[in-house]
Amino acid sequence: MVDVFMANPEEELEFWAQLASLPPFENLTEEQKASLVGDLQRIFFPWLNDPVAARQFFVEVLSPELRQGIEKDYQAGGMKPHLERTLSTLMSEGVPKILELLGGKKVLWPSWAFETQVALMLEGRVLLESGAVRQTRQHQEFSTQLAARLLAELLRFLRRKPFPFRRCRICKKVMVQAVRGKPKLYCSEVCRSKGIPFAAKRTEHVRERRREKRQEEIENVRRILQAWPEDEQWKMIHKVFPDKSRRALVQLVNKAKQQQQNETPVGKGV
Ligand SMILES: [Zn+2]
Repeated sequence: MVDVFMANPEEELEFWAQLASLPPFENLTEEQKASLVGDLQRIFFPWLNDPVAARQFFVEVLSPELRQGIEKDYQAGGMKPHLERTLSTLMSEGVPKILELLGGKKVLWPSWAFETQVALMLEGRVLLESGAVRQTRQHQEFSTQLAARLLAELLRFLRRKPFPFRRCRICKKVMVQAVRGKPKLYCSEVCRSKGIPFAAKRTEHVRERRREKRQEEIENVRRILQAWPEDEQWKMIHKVFPDKSRRALVQLVNKAKQQQQNETPVGKGV
């Protein structure tokens, strides 16, 4: 069995982060497209250069009718247009989901790719999920078939704890996060120097960050209360804050409800 994804995970994550930081596919130059198609093949389908392995893959994933055409294209050296369509599909339907998640939105994973629908939402550094992914669907097009497989692969990465992506605080570029250690907040020294104030202001800065962190936690909880059905809320909250005691969580929930109420205009009339 050919493993489609012999990819090196670090390289793969960098590739997704790079795609997420680029303008839409149709706005890219021809050179950019060609270079990305090259990366796509090198990272995910290196065995396409090996006729025996390629043939084995076609036999495994394609219906006989589809296979004939693809094998003809392959022999004629015509895989590039297929890979370019795959890339375009990924950039229009997969990658924007990373940005939506990082923006705090509830996201439905592209349902054409799978048999079932999955709802995702990012809270802090944890991905919340309901629904189940089963098989990827059979598709009529080779490029769509590849895209569906890559989207399944991306989803597997999004479930990693902690969440593998984050945006630079200053320039908003999408960055890959290490599995261990503190989150990386800035993409470069240049952005870091813009983000961290001088020593004189540091205590204030630290206090401010702490307040921000607390407020972020409250907002995490508020979004969970709004976005998920009641019987799932507590489970989701636990997942996002695995280290907090029940008591601390109850406090957080109360605070979130309180803020919610204060912001809801009552009896003001319209
Ligand atoms: Zn930056």
